Amino acid sequence: MNLFSTQKPYIIAGPCGAEDEAQMMRVAESLRELPVHMIRAGVWKPRSKPGHFEGRGELALAWLKEVKRISGKPVCTEVANQEQVTLALKYGLDAVWIGARTTVNPFLVQEIADALAGTSIAVMIKNPVNPDVELWSGAYERIQKSGITNIAAIHRGFSVHDPGSIYRNKPIWSIPIELKRRYKDLPVICDVSHIGGNRTILSGIAQRALDLDFDGLMIETHPEPDAALSDAKQQITPERLAEILEQLIIRHIQTDHAQGDIEQIRLILDSMDAEIVALLGKRMELVKELGQIKSDNNIAIYQQDRWREIIETRSAWGEQNDLNVDFIRKIFELIHDRSIKTQIDILTKQSP
Ligand code: PEP
Ligand code: MN
Repeated sequence: MNLFSTQKPYIIAGPCGAEDEAQMMRVAESLRELPVHMIRAGVWKPRSKPGHFEGRGELALAWLKEVKRISGKPVCTEVANQEQVTLALKYGLDAVWIGARTTVNPFLVQEIADALAGTSIAVMIKNPVNPDVELWSGAYERIQKSGITNIAAIHRGFSVHDPGSIYRNKPIWSIPIELKRRYKDLPVICDVSHIGGNRTILSGIAQRALDLDFDGLMIETHPEPDAALSDAKQQITPERLAEILEQLIIRHIQTDHAQGDIEQIRLILDSMDAEIVALLGKRMELVKELGQIKSDNNIAIYQQDRWREIIETRSAWGEQNDLNVDFIRKIFELIHDRSIKTQIDILTKQSP
């Protein structure tokens, strides 16, 4: 069984970076009694700018080994090249993760995959910084091809330009959900700290991840978060971690007594969806007829007033039916956009 599926949710906690021996021993002591399944600490820290804390390197690997002995829990760190993999193996780490800035680079991922071949270490693959499911899947496939069996993906959010966002890295949940759809047996862990970037919003993100059936959580935990040498704002104390874990509501995908009701409602939803799709098909037939008439009579396809009327009436109908207006707008934008494209096709086919 995949190591990351042995507990659900599988909890990984520990500081952003291993800073000194005393800090790491406090981490080991404080996490020992908590429901944490693996301890993390960055040993090589990828920083956006030079001159910041970049990790203690090999020295910190020895501390991690000691953390494992004291806590009795497996330990992991981030690796970004072949040399770092070799060192992580030398110190007997149980797992490594490939960071977001590395997953974007297939050369590096392949180098890491080659260095991992023939070993039994567990590997976690963070999403690339940009919202690209193909790069993420590609990295997973490279690691899988190297023979590693204990693999998990880590969702840490995406770096997109959005100054108004409350997140440090936007979750765009549809992307990790697509990854789960492609690889049913791949556990996906949510790194709430790098998504949130701020300790005040972590518990909400963690709950959302569990509601979406994520397999685990990664939460940066530091004995003195405000004094942390990296990612201070998003780190929490072990006490706060205990509180968050305690308050999480673990939802089940299916329970026996609810099973019958769920199936029944799903059957109804299936038939409703079939009706919606059939209606869309009929609507599109009429749109084509309309396109033909417009083409025959040299009438412009897009008409501002008509579009305004569609949005206004549909939004009002949405409201009457207790539906979010924004949701209805988006649906009709998509429908209208497709109608316009279909009519343009008709027109251009008939142009001389
Ligand atoms: C980290 O986990 O501390 C880290 C640097 O992560 P990411 O690759 O998600 O930025
Ligand atoms: Mn960090």
